[in-house]
Amino acid sequence: MQLKDRNYQIQGVDVLAIADEFGLPLYVYDANKIIEKIGLLRSSFAGVNLKIKYAAKALTNVSILKLMRQQGVDMDSVSVNEARMGMLAGFEPSQIMFTPSGVSFDEIREAVDLGLQLNVDSLPLLEWVGQTYGHSVPISIRINPHIAEGGNIKISTGHADSKFGISILQRSDIRAVVDKYQLSVAGLHIHTGSDFKNADAFLRGAEVLFDLASDYSDLKFIDFGSGFKVAYKEGDHVTDVADLGRKVSEAFQSFCQQYGRELELWFEPGKFLVSECGHLLVRTNIVKENPSRTFVAVDSGLNHLIRPMMYDSYHDIKNVSNPLGDEKTYTVVGYICETDTFATDRPLPDVRPGDVLSFENAGAYGFSMASTYNARFRPAEVLVYDGSPYVIRQRETFADLMRGQEILEFEEEFVKN
Ligand SMILES: *Cc1c(COP(=O)(O)O)cnc(C)c1O
Repeated sequence: MQLKDRNYQIQGVDVLAIADEFGLPLYVYDANKIIEKIGLLRSSFAGVNLKIKYAAKALTNVSILKLMRQQGVDMDSVSVNEARMGMLAGFEPSQIMFTPSGVSFDEIREAVDLGLQLNVDSLPLLEWVGQTYGHSVPISIRINPHIAEGGNIKISTGHADSKFGISILQRSDIRAVVDKYQLSVAGLHIHTGSDFKNADAFLRGAEVLFDLASDYSDLKFIDFGSGFKVAYKEGDHVTDVADLGRKVSEAFQSFCQQYGRELELWFEPGKFLVSECGHLLVRTNIVKENPSRTFVAVDSGLNHLIRPMMYDSYHDIKNVSNPLGDEKTYTVVGYICETDTFATDRPLPDVRPGDVLSFENAGAYGFSMASTYNARFRPAEVLVYDGSPYVIRQRETFADLMRGQEILEFEEEFVKN
């Protein structure tokens, strides 16, 4: 059902006014939504020593990182550049987890030089860390527990054929390398993908780590990665965070008792913290009635929001400028020379050329996966904080597209004969 908001607002600010002031297409984020999600996570895990490490790749903007830090959230990075942005946002290197997958030893060296918390995801890397640093650099080890969960193979990472982590079946190999170099293992980590639906699947992963923990006596934390499923449309099955919090906390407390010490429980949510906060506002260019379908073409496409095309993700769409129009069925497409369909046969209030549409749940993996394909600009980004909108990334210009390109001078013009 389409919510017929008369005036679509974010923190009392009219969304159409934001569109007018900053232009389209535009990403708009609601800081309050992020803060609300952090609070929900904290209250659900009240009984344990919880550390939230925001997975920066979901929405990689230095002001968003600053907001996280202001809220007492640490960060998780998958590249040294993300970590550098985190440091610009004020994070201490030690607050930043570095979870590479298959990156070069040169980048690992940079990460260690910066002082990031290194998470090791392969046996060759473990060996290299041993040879290079011995026990001087405390590490975390990323385990693949081989738990298949969730529907989308493209985003699930914990199954047997996934490239991520060191297989739990190689437990004794891990131990052998750790012993050989007297490595200091501070943490154990799993991140099984983005589609966990219930606490039980989470707990099965947790049990794998609790069992493995008996191999290591100096642990400081257990990191459960992410995998929180968020709602994209009404009726979607979502992770019941309160239920998860209760069950995981309970299991964790009894594990700590067994282990003999209270450890930190880490999570690395990306999508959970920033998906809902984000809206991609676009303008309708053309409404085209074909014999079989009515197409709405907007001034955006897979260059700005690729999830619908890449993951078949569903994004709710609001007609911000005509919320009370009669409902009709539309197929909403982009302006890129590819088949970039946002939504097929979607009921929407009457869409007219010029209407402003909002793609909802666009905060995570929206801008951060955007490109300049077709030589088009990426959108600007605006954060609504404390009732006011602030630009946190300017719209690109033609000069941005040309930056770094060298214009070669050829000696002769090609002459057609
Ligand atoms: C991507 C990623 C996350 C965040 O996943 P979400 O589904 O966005 O919550 C967490 N940890 C690691 C290591 C990741 O690569």
